[in-house]
Amino acid sequence: MSSARLVLCNARLADGSTDFGQEPRTLVVEDGVIVSTDLDRGTTPEGAVDLAGATVVPGLIDAHMHVLSSEITRNSGFGPPPELKGGEPRARELGYFVLAAMAKAVLEAGITTVRDVGCDNREAIVLRQAVNLGVVPGPQVLSCGRIISATSPGGVLFDAMYRQADGADEMRRAVREQLRAGADFIKFMATGARSVELENPEPAQMTREEMGAIIAEAHRMGFRVAAHAEGLEGTRVAIEEGVDTIEHGLSLHREPALLDVMAEKGSVLVPTLSTFHDLAERFAEKFTSKLVDQAKRQLEEAYETLLAARQAGVTIAMGHDSGPPGDAAIELVRMVDGGLSTAEALAAGTAGSATALGLTDRGTLQVGKRADLLVVDGDPLTDIRVLNDRAAVRIVVKNGDLVVDRR
Ligand SMILES: [Zn+2]
Repeated sequence: MSSARLVLCNARLADGSTDFGQEPRTLVVEDGVIVSTDLDRGTTPEGAVDLAGATVVPGLIDAHMHVLSSEITRNSGFGPPPELKGGEPRARELGYFVLAAMAKAVLEAGITTVRDVGCDNREAIVLRQAVNLGVVPGPQVLSCGRIISATSPGGVLFDAMYRQADGADEMRRAVREQLRAGADFIKFMATGARSVELENPEPAQMTREEMGAIIAEAHRMGFRVAAHAEGLEGTRVAIEEGVDTIEHGLSLHREPALLDVMAEKGSVLVPTLSTFHDLAERFAEKFTSKLVDQAKRQLEEAYETLLAARQAGVTIAMGHDSGPPGDAAIELVRMVDGGLSTAEALAAGTAGSATALGLTDRGTLQVGKRADLLVVDGDPLTDIRVLNDRAAVRIVVKNGDLVVDRR
């Protein structure tokens, strides 16, 4: 339920897509929708919130998140401490409280929409339901259900996250199973995963027929499709078969013509720079040396692909694929470190991610868009890091409702 009317005056507006200039503006929300963004008239309108020059940006959208109640290793510093021998046994259901705490942390950071690209069992769908029913505060959640994978070594490590299938007919069935379970979109493994030593991420892990069957079946039913794509060959087949988003996609700099195809078809790249930093640097001691060496190479390639994708005009989205929850805008800081402008990075975290999710109702501050908003001290177009500074968050609005108010 969105409150009827919200007026934010004396505000700077920035969404990375539109030039709002430096002059203070008044943003008016009615019934959860932005209805005006005019220049201030010099007087404070009745009932308005005076932002005193703070910046309003669209609510951030994390296009690549794993909603995992069991995720403690990558989400260092979040969730319960590691279990010690001899302690009271921990209940499986404890994980749902971790999920609720995670959802709250994400929303309080100004991330108003997330796309879960793989969790254990149906946790993201359960969280989606809890948020939609108002049981817990959190961002809007989109879930893929289980990730569709060929029979593969990763299927052993990620048994509760994957739906393994082989052959075009079984792929169609696997898609239908996810839709039956309530998935918002479909995700599949076009290549192996960099986190599994027994998988080589270079070759395509599925045949063209199998990938084509997944994409065609999902599209026929009106659902979008994401592909985990590391090596060039699997990435190529996924793009040619019409996938909507390429997750990771680090090899694309090797073949710029494929980026041109993405730009032409409107497929989105989710570069997930943070996850390569995790495996190559932050959590290197937790992985085998073979995987760490591979990740170091991939980290360099991911940054090369970021610039090649920008050059080709491919839409880029923000996908954290890391932790702790609420820290997704570090991905935008990394994009700027990698050579994107602050406006391009902000657009990736908002409009680009909205495009990745197929949500045309949000992602900019244009009149008519859904009022998902983040108010921060400072100017992200001058210093993108304010978007990842929890102390800078003043207000978060989700669908017209003030969900965080730290004035
Ligand atoms: Zn991921």
